[in-house]
Amino acid sequence: MAIVGRFAPSPSGRMHLGNVFSALLAWLSVRSVGGTMLLRIEDLDPARCREEYAMQIKDDLRWLGLDWDEEQTPQSRRTAAYAEKFDYLAAQGLLYPCYCSRDALRAASAPHERDGESVYPGTCRNLTDAERAKQTKKPSWRIRVPDEDFTVADGVQGAYRVNLAHDCGDFVVRRADGVYAYQLAVVTDDATGGVTQVVRGRDLLASAPRQVYLLRLFGADAPQYYHVPLLIDKSGRRLSKRDGDLDLGALRQTMKPEAVIGRLAFAAGLTASNAPISAAELASVFSWNKVRKQDLVIRDYWRV
Ligand code: GLU
Ligand code: ZN
Repeated sequence: MAIVGRFAPSPSGRMHLGNVFSALLAWLSVRSVGGTMLLRIEDLDPARCREEYAMQIKDDLRWLGLDWDEEQTPQSRRTAAYAEKFDYLAAQGLLYPCYCSRDALRAASAPHERDGESVYPGTCRNLTDAERAKQTKKPSWRIRVPDEDFTVADGVQGAYRVNLAHDCGDFVVRRADGVYAYQLAVVTDDATGGVTQVVRGRDLLASAPRQVYLLRLFGADAPQYYHVPLLIDKSGRRLSKRDGDLDLGALRQTMKPEAVIGRLAFAAGLTASNAPISAAELASVFSWNKVRKQDLVIRDYWRV
């Protein structure tokens, strides 16, 4: 079967090393077997995403030597496709309006670990028509999940089993402001692109069972998932925009792409030293068996 992978960056800031690490592994996984790489700009949330960041991310990927074969339509221009999937789910009676406040505001962005996700208690699941008619707030829309285990056979983390009803609850597929949720968008776009493998940070592992559930409803096969280690600081915190000295704006001032990749490859467990190496050279020695599973305290590898 032809291998199709993707980069799916959210243009809400400059790429930092953590993003580079996931992108590098996604690219190696595809290129080492002669597969096809897609790029998709995940600019679902107009409040957080900027065109200039999208341009910057593409420039950074090119600088790193991480190329792609095709660019998918950016998510901000895919509303009609998401609406079609939404209507399909609604027609099966799987969706209902949720009037709880707080809930859906962040649904467009990927729910990275420690974002304080909680299990939805089902408050609005069985409201009567009369109760719904009394509401004044614009609702978000949730999908009913079954009391059923979903197992994701992750290529890095091993078998990951979740009961959607107990561990997640009915989740948002469209926000109250009309923006479609990350879970629905990602699944729609991966299916449209014929994506067969998804490589991304371990913090999105918890989303995989929801995506497998949606894919099953759409009659599409789940991709092979690889949830890769995170780059963290000494206190266990994921790298973020706060670590500005490790974003590509800063790193490109002082380092060559081969030096950045050499250090990440060594940290990943792919090479025996942190000597500079190009992405293309690395593709010939890449294997998922070598990739370590534990998170990486990046400053240990990054004394510049
Ligand atoms: N756009 C998401 C992010 O930047 C990644 C989504 C995915 O890989 O499924 O976190
Ligand atoms: Zn609710």
